[in-house]
Amino acid sequence: MKYPNLLNRFLTYVKVNTRSDETSTTTPSTQSQVDFATNILIPEMKRVGLENVYYLPNGYAIGTLPANDPSFTRKIGLISHMDTADFNAEGVNPQIIENYDGEVIPLGQSGFNLDPADFASLKKYKGQTLITTDGTTLLGSDDKSGIAEIMTAIEYLSGHPEIKHGEIRVGFGPDEEIGVGADKFDAIDFDVDFAYTVDGGPLGELQFETFSAASAEITFQGRNVHPGTAKGQMINALQLAIDFHNQLPNGDRPELTDGYEGFYHLMNVEGTVEEAKASYIIRDFDTVTFEKRKEFMRSITNKMNEKRGERVHLELKDQYYNMRQVIEKDMTPINIAKAVMNKLDIKPIIEPIRGGTDGSKISFMGIPTPNIFAGGENMHGRFEYVSLQTMERAVDTIIGIVSYKDE
Ligand SMILES: [Zn+2]
Repeated sequence: MKYPNLLNRFLTYVKVNTRSDETSTTTPSTQSQVDFATNILIPEMKRVGLENVYYLPNGYAIGTLPANDPSFTRKIGLISHMDTADFNAEGVNPQIIENYDGEVIPLGQSGFNLDPADFASLKKYKGQTLITTDGTTLLGSDDKSGIAEIMTAIEYLSGHPEIKHGEIRVGFGPDEEIGVGADKFDAIDFDVDFAYTVDGGPLGELQFETFSAASAEITFQGRNVHPGTAKGQMINALQLAIDFHNQLPNGDRPELTDGYEGFYHLMNVEGTVEEAKASYIIRDFDTVTFEKRKEFMRSITNKMNEKRGERVHLELKDQYYNMRQVIEKDMTPINIAKAVMNKLDIKPIIEPIRGGTDGSKISFMGIPTPNIFAGGENMHGRFEYVSLQTMERAVDTIIGIVSYKDE
């Protein structure tokens, strides 16, 4: 085996509960992430040969593999996140299926199954080693695969000085799943020419487009009077919320869109006759239509207020932007990743991410940061699984990228 420590390393990581907590006000959001970084990752980063290893108050564990050939002048960053998604992560008890036969995999005693009839992706993995859950937790391949792969690539490079590379900076960070970890990323301290998040799904994924994202919080002010004498007097805040919603383009909803299509997503609506609140997220790939979507919400608000007095209050907040705007200025990181994958006989799958990544924020801090595959399938729940062979290919890809020499 080329990477004998990869599997055990991954299993060690996933057994630690590092679930993030959206309601927390601390950084990282959970103490378990601090403990994971300082007790497990930092000592191991030193063991595999990283130098200048330290833990920042923003929750990032950072280390450097110095260049071993001065002709490599680019500094490249490798980034993964420690936290896992909002699903039970206590007592992760992975199952290892060697030489997968392509049939139904029972998930422990849970009564849940990984069934190729439900999850067609399983068919690709016949003959491979799969790591699954026991049906009671998520696996946490998102993104402990990425951490294990980066750690393994560094270990391999340390043991094979004949592979020449430039300076490599490694960063393992918190709270990606709750969308705030990268807000405090220190791009000046990280100091690389470009980076990759190793946080993608199946073999070959290479992503440099994300949504541009905003949130909209809308408050509707009603006027409550007795329904028996309401005529011409009552203003029902709930009805205002419905009227607002009905003015949005009917087809622009997540459940009706895919590919490059954007949407308005009503996440929550609550209230009484007197006051109601609605929460939306707005998503689009295109900068112009992203702005138009926000403008459209403003125009609905203004129109309603002109008619009924100031009863609708709209608060729009930008959350992150499509990283393509940064990356397309210099496609070097994409071209390198593509060339490496082609050489490794991995077909690059370049598709837009219908979401965000840490890379969307880090790119706008000045470090272009596309995303490459880490291997996970069915992420964020009990049906999550990963192929060991795909993880090995991710390690190959990382090593290929950092040792890539311009022709
Ligand atoms: Zn992830």
